[in-house]
Amino acid sequence: MKLYVVGIGPGGADQMTPRACAAIQASDVIVGYTTYIDLIRALVEDKEILQTPMKQEIDRCMRARDAALTGKTVAMICSGDAGVYGMAGLMHEVCSDDPDIEIEVIPGVTAACAGAAVLGAPLMHDFAVISLSDLLTPWEKIEKRLDLASQADFCICLYNPSSKKRADYLQKACDIMLKSKSPDTPCGYVKNIGRMGEYGTVCTLEQLREATVDMFTTVFVGNSQTQVIGGKLVTPRGYQTK
Ligand code: SAH
Repeated sequence: MKLYVVGIGPGGADQMTPRACAAIQASDVIVGYTTYIDLIRALVEDKEILQTPMKQEIDRCMRARDAALTGKTVAMICSGDAGVYGMAGLMHEVCSDDPDIEIEVIPGVTAACAGAAVLGAPLMHDFAVISLSDLLTPWEKIEKRLDLASQADFCICLYNPSSKKRADYLQKACDIMLKSKSPDTPCGYVKNIGRMGEYGTVCTLEQLREATVDMFTTVFVGNSQTQVIGGKLVTPRGYQTK
């Protein structure tokens, strides 16, 4: 019994790895959000598709598990990488009592890497990835991580920077980072990476505080070395100063 948890990359089939593509082709049943399945529609046309609404993650994993238990090969689709705020962990938890199911996690290009490439090369050195979603993490813990990562001069990549219920979270996060990062720190954000309407822009941390972003945006905050070179966001690793 085989259950793939597949990271399809940020956009459509052109940002997917051949291994992800092969896993989908080898599967009988595809499970995932409609949005992601639509991105790879051509690949899954002849497959049985189990679509599930947002937020019902446990239900979705159980449906994938149940399909695998019937002997079908199943692919659970995640955007970006399946192990970065994706379904790979929960899938392992849900199948913990089903040793007959072989789970194979197929990595994908996560939004941090894909978005960094759109802006230039901001994540060349040590960086921290922090999600601003407090659905599963208490906000106090998110604040602490933002604060300490800023004190340690990490570049910071923010996932889930906003939603309708959390419209001012990016602003709050910037206020915390501004305690130890300069207001001039080069930053940027990218919307709809690899998808229709991809848009990336470079700004300062002070400007980022005023920016309106949505849930399909990934945000990048530089460290003390980050520069804007030819309009691109670049964090030098230090080769030129050695
Ligand atoms: N597993 C995904 C992350 C899921 S969490 C990955 O590895 O990329 C959802 C968050 O990821 C979004 O709120 C956004 O911050 C980021 N994200 C995922 N795909 C994106 C895309 N195509 N464009 C911009 N941001 C994206």
